[in-house]
Amino acid sequence: MQLATFTRTEPVDHPLAEQLRQVVRDADRFAPRSLQMALGPSEIGQPCARRLAYRLMDERRVNTGSDPWAAIVGTAVHAWLAAAFEAVNDRLGRIRYLVEKRVEIRPGLTGSCDLYDADTATVIDHKVVGPTSMKEYRRSGPPPAYRVQAHLYGVGYTRLGVPVREVAVAFYPRSGLLSGLHVWSEPFDPAVAEQALQRHDQVLEAACALDVDRHPEGYRKLPTDPSHACNYCPWFKPGPDTGATCPGHMATN
Ligand code: SF4
Repeated sequence: MQLATFTRTEPVDHPLAEQLRQVVRDADRFAPRSLQMALGPSEIGQPCARRLAYRLMDERRVNTGSDPWAAIVGTAVHAWLAAAFEAVNDRLGRIRYLVEKRVEIRPGLTGSCDLYDADTATVIDHKVVGPTSMKEYRRSGPPPAYRVQAHLYGVGYTRLGVPVREVAVAFYPRSGLLSGLHVWSEPFDPAVAEQALQRHDQVLEAACALDVDRHPEGYRKLPTDPSHACNYCPWFKPGPDTGATCPGHMATN
């Protein structure tokens, strides 16, 4: 008996697909998150000093073509959660949760804190993460930048006279089930925020002293960090280390 043979063909993209992708890309490009200019609390605890310096000096980004979908999903989930916690306040008939409240950590540094639970005096930051990061955060806790961000919001709330006892980061799975939600927390410690702010100031001072605007090769003197995902860094560019772009931690050490 002769069996029929099947030849595998590459799936063909539907003509509508690129049109839809383009609408999503354009909407993302002009979203306030993408146009954000001022450094925010999520960036202060950046472990790579060189990357922090690029951001502080507003160096031109070169690695900008990455797929925006993960960030878009994160933004959409944040909006959904904000509405969900506002709805709890409505049902309770009192404000238990402060949602997306703008706080000032110090003059010139403000941020919008995802959530504050007045019943437990807990600052909560939402993160929507993929399976690899979720596994890592369950095993080793949040990356330094997330921990610093939560404590910075804690400082922002205390400046408003609102008590803060605990800071937490809630990790929501980007794919999978709600049962996969993971929470990390620790007592609020303003010293964590203060240390990060001092380091930020030192990196800024160093970048100015190196006169990186006129001598970008000075960026090469700033330490990099092995824990950072260089592929996602806006200044990552494989090849020679020009200073104005970075070939990644592995290539600079
Ligand atoms: S590519 Fe990596 S090492 Fe270089 S600045 Fe970016 S995060 Fe730091």
